[in-house]
Amino acid sequence: MAARTDHRTEVAERGSFCFAQCSCGWFAPGRRSRDKARRDAAEHQDDPDRAD
Ligand SMILES: [Zn+2]
Repeated sequence: MAARTDHRTEVAERGSFCFAQCSCGWFAPGRRSRDKARRDAAEHQDDPDRAD
């Protein structure tokens, strides 16, 4: 399937929280673990249209 939008995710840190964010404007809720934030990012890239 072709990507309609460019989805470039990255994991940002704020205080003791990590969260995934994307170039499309999407972002995940803050996580205590960088691992979970990475998984959020991966899931978003995998299926960007999925509702939260
Ligand atoms: Zn995205």
